[in-house]
Amino acid sequence: MAQRLRVHIQGIVQGVGFRPFIYQLAIRHSLNGYVANTPKGVELEVEGGRGALHHFLKELPASAPPLASITQIETEELPAAAYSTFEIKASEEGEERAALISPDTTTCSDCLRELFDPQDRRHLYPFINCTNCGPRYTIINDIPYDRLKTSMAVFTMCGDCAGEYHDPLDRRFHAQPNGCWRCGPRMWLADGNGEDLKISEPISEAAKHLSQGAIVAVKGLGGFHLAVDASQNEAVKRLRSRKGREEKPLALMSSSLEQIERYALVGDEERRLLTSSQRPIVIVPKRPENTIAPEVAPNNGYFGVMLPYTPLHHLLLIHPFLALVMTSGNISEEPIAIDNLESVQRLGKIADYFLFHDRDILLRSDDSILRVAGGRPRQIRRSRGYVPVPIFLRKPVAEVLALGGELKGTICLTKENRAFVGQHLGDLENLETLEFLELTVRHLRRILEVSPRLLVHDLHPDYLTTQVALAQEELPTLAVQHHHAHVVSCMAEHGLEGKVLGLALDGTGYGDDGCIWGGEILVADERNYARVAHFDYVPMPGGEKAIKEPWRMAVAYLWAGFGEKIFQDEQQALQTWDRNQIGILVQMMQRQINSPLTSSCGRLFDAVAALVGLRDRIAYEGQAAIELEQWLEPTTDRYQYELGEVGDGLLFSPTAIFAQVFDDVVSGVATELVSGKFHQTLVTMFADACLHLCKLHGLNRVVCSGGVFQNIFLLENLEDRLGASGLEVYTPQLIPANDGCISLGQAIVGAASLEQ
Ligand code: ZN
Ligand code: ZN
Ligand code: FE
Repeated sequence: MAQRLRVHIQGIVQGVGFRPFIYQLAIRHSLNGYVANTPKGVELEVEGGRGALHHFLKELPASAPPLASITQIETEELPAAAYSTFEIKASEEGEERAALISPDTTTCSDCLRELFDPQDRRHLYPFINCTNCGPRYTIINDIPYDRLKTSMAVFTMCGDCAGEYHDPLDRRFHAQPNGCWRCGPRMWLADGNGEDLKISEPISEAAKHLSQGAIVAVKGLGGFHLAVDASQNEAVKRLRSRKGREEKPLALMSSSLEQIERYALVGDEERRLLTSSQRPIVIVPKRPENTIAPEVAPNNGYFGVMLPYTPLHHLLLIHPFLALVMTSGNISEEPIAIDNLESVQRLGKIADYFLFHDRDILLRSDDSILRVAGGRPRQIRRSRGYVPVPIFLRKPVAEVLALGGELKGTICLTKENRAFVGQHLGDLENLETLEFLELTVRHLRRILEVSPRLLVHDLHPDYLTTQVALAQEELPTLAVQHHHAHVVSCMAEHGLEGKVLGLALDGTGYGDDGCIWGGEILVADERNYARVAHFDYVPMPGGEKAIKEPWRMAVAYLWAGFGEKIFQDEQQALQTWDRNQIGILVQMMQRQINSPLTSSCGRLFDAVAALVGLRDRIAYEGQAAIELEQWLEPTTDRYQYELGEVGDGLLFSPTAIFAQVFDDVVSGVATELVSGKFHQTLVTMFADACLHLCKLHGLNRVVCSGGVFQNIFLLENLEDRLGASGLEVYTPQLIPANDGCISLGQAIVGAASLEQ
């Protein structure tokens, strides 16, 4: 007796080979019916014996194509319809619009096999791809996801390619970027002025130049990389000086895990991430003895490593490099270059050669960066491979647009039960990055078909994103406090509802009292927050300058704790700093000139790093705190801390802790131990405060966010400590703990405000 089922499937199920997969699965189980794309996903009907239907439904989610991501399967039973075949129904214009678009994905094993098969017609073709792999998000101009709406539109498929494209049983069925040597994109090598060198084997020639120490700009998937041989210190040094990047670690790419393991220590979870279809950069500890140039990651115990993720990378890394530096093709903090002509203008002074191709990148997307902490992967920079996969929300929300903060900018759009956090934009401090933001907003609004009712921005009046929001007249606006956004972003990721205790440990966020917050505990939900604990304020002499020069913060904590006299004593520990300069800072603070008040936890880390002599000035955000953590020697020893009660809240005294650090430094305690004690103090103090406040407010969930949670010791130990006390602890994983998460939190707060 035949039975008929209608099945609706939602998620990333279009443009990923889903219909051919269903077709083959149905045929295998001798089922008749059809499969079709719909505005919401995929609809199918299958008819046949009960047992066959049962196995079909069981296998469906388990064996779905690698790029598919099923969020919902609904089935209904219908009277038999006596189908005689199984067919794939063609899509009609407009049908695929609302479906989710897949991110760009690493070259699959089938394509790799063909790439290196001398008999294959795509042997060594640098743009080989199929339905299971290749570019997506970065080549799409509009939806539906169809070749004519991608940067492949200018390439007309040859007969062979078109044959594959139209055959439902071929693994290139509807693979929009399909192409070959005859019909698809091509590569060429150019000199530093962008002049085509007319080389017949451009990739091998580029590899030869790399092995001779040259800098080659390589056009990739989401933008240009600047490549040099990572074993050649002089070459890496030259790249650094030309790029204007002093000390921030440079990412490495090696041909295989075995190669990476020659210079880095890779754990199981890291190995899984490195070989995942997203192919992110993963932060892993250096091997103590390695032959990577010291200039790659100076004063840092870690490398950022990745495996090849495009055919071009595989072809480049056939050549015997232990690793290539593959860093974003930009000058310091500008957006990564994506256009051939533009790249010559912007990177011509850096690169000796350009490895170009003629498939346009429509939307730039940097490499994503993750690291493992507490046994789980954590996003640090969420971009290529992950965008535009949404964060799935607990329930449908209103459509809003959020512009994020300033550093590590992202935007977020909400639609139904999804929050789409866009790719990493960079620091929104210049016009180029702002233009990138506006382009991304337009693009995502178009391809996601979102019509926001509200524009959400940070409370900080000086952020460029705030100015953009206030300058437009299309949408009403809402300002959201930075740490409220931090906490709510983590709530959203974990699907939390109702009040939580939010522990926001951060660098900088504008507070509702006009001070710079960053060491806060909030009682928060999606609508409101109350600040129930924070670090006592200290001045930041010089404002922004105090962030770039941590020694200024050390002077500030000492001054706030001891007063001016501390600098008059002949303190050996303070001899490295210029006495006149100290005098100027003290005067600034006394007269309250350009010395905003801060409760930042990040600044306290900076100041301790400066006081122990690690770093007076930083070359990239968070550097002092990162180095302090790397010097850490775990200890149960710690400093005394004070939890002052003010009203029904708590006040942490940073100067009381800092004074003890100072005593240790004065009496010559080793840096490793000072760092260990300092970290231990914060863990104990925050755990203590969270327990107290949870009890006081009748809460049992603690939500953590803020850039300081990129500190693994703090994250892991606070998770353990709070968990052991019976509290539920939630930490960021899918979205960064840093300001990359701000747009998500803002969007959720904005959407909630529309419900009222
Ligand atoms: Zn493939
Ligand atoms: Zn072709
Ligand atoms: Fe922040």
